[in-house]
Amino acid sequence: MAAWRPWSISGAMDGAAMDSASERGCESGWECDSSMPGLVTDSESLSDSSADEPEPEPEPELLDPVPDTAAREEEAASVEPEPEPELLDSEPELELALAERVRGGNEAGGGTATQLLANSWGAGLPSFWCAELAASTNQRQYLVREEHAAQFTEEFPDYAGGNILSLGRTVEKATLDAKLVTYEPPAGAIRNTQARRPQRFVNERVRLTDAGTKELGRGVRQNLIVWGFRYRCGGIDTYVCVSSTAISASPDSAAALVGRSIPSGVTVVAEDTKTIGGKRWIKVGPGWACCVDTQTAAVKLRAAGCKRQCGGVCVCAATCTQQVKKRHECDFSIKFERTLALVQQGLVRITVIGSHTPDRAAWAPMPLEGRRISVAARQEILKHHAQKKTAKQAMQQLNLDARQAGSPTDGRGAVVDTSAVPDKRKIQQLMTNHSRAGKNGKSAFEVVDSIVRYVIVPIIASWSFD
Ligand SMILES: [Zn+2]
Ligand SMILES: [Zn+2]
Repeated sequence: MAAWRPWSISGAMDGAAMDSASERGCESGWECDSSMPGLVTDSESLSDSSADEPEPEPEPELLDPVPDTAAREEEAASVEPEPEPELLDSEPELELALAERVRGGNEAGGGTATQLLANSWGAGLPSFWCAELAASTNQRQYLVREEHAAQFTEEFPDYAGGNILSLGRTVEKATLDAKLVTYEPPAGAIRNTQARRPQRFVNERVRLTDAGTKELGRGVRQNLIVWGFRYRCGGIDTYVCVSSTAISASPDSAAALVGRSIPSGVTVVAEDTKTIGGKRWIKVGPGWACCVDTQTAAVKLRAAGCKRQCGGVCVCAATCTQQVKKRHECDFSIKFERTLALVQQGLVRITVIGSHTPDRAAWAPMPLEGRRISVAARQEILKHHAQKKTAKQAMQQLNLDARQAGSPTDGRGAVVDTSAVPDKRKIQQLMTNHSRAGKNGKSAFEVVDSIVRYVIVPIIASWSFD
């Protein structure tokens, strides 16, 4: 029997649709959350380099708090870093020294930094050096090296499989204007040369300018945040099938069955939800499934997605009034930030705030088959395109790489995770959009210089460049 395919791929969480939206450059919907008054969301925030048309400058008033519907997805950068000298990963005492230095920098309110144990996030994860700073009630903080920041998004359990959206920068405009740091894309990244706003990456190379060095030297602003991006979860509506559930043509206990059912144990994504006679029905691919047994009311599909701020899981609570300024999605958010001191140390501080649901074990991430393409996979596709490879060749290579990395396959050798290996049509679409971007006779994109042009002064220099 062929592998059962969830139908999330055509749903509201449709990776293809969201990606094509970003392909068209629809990333102007910066959301400004009224609960985060310190946020600056300006027009130079993270953007998708694959935008193939110039975008209008956002009007300042658009940056005011906006309804949820204006939120657009942005993908966190996740470009694979260049291979680094083995030295960096094989010197635990140096890593501890690094944590000590950070602790000395008073980064987390005087907390301690503890290197995460192997397999903290599951088998083999995290696969990179990561230290955890002291946690508080509602937030956890981590330190990673600059070049590994994008891998955090791939491996952190609450990030992978969530519907993570960009909120833009966290840095005050006055600080940005002071130009204390410079940033460059990670080595080898491919950027659209015609995008009005160049793509930004969480693992980009950030360095102190002379002004930044001077500020740091004064010793009083080492904790000033000089670089940062914020993301939040837009909510996912996953359901875990508790017992095999038949699919009906319409949400009605009298409706005809379509001859297919959801097997027990499978996670599906609701494309739509209706409550009829007090029973919740969800749309899944070929039809509708009732979350409870229409006779006995026993639970058949357990809501396992994100909890809304109004209290409902996967749907708003019955009492929710849908006020525009209140989010009805998810409480989980995440910040990538660097202070002056962290820039000097080559580190990124990642703050995870809230959670998808109070009971983490009850949350089911987006099924692998429904995930939208990762920035890493997108970058790989663009590299293939630059080398005049076909979509099929790109897909074969992505499949091979993901399989070798241990990604689950469907039994015929095809990797299931669509964030790592999108279907050929989607790869073709991405390539075509980039060809169009080059229509003015200029190359559509460039490969960022892979030579690190900066001298990395502190700590890391003493490890790898001496
Ligand atoms: Zn609500
Ligand atoms: Zn969530």
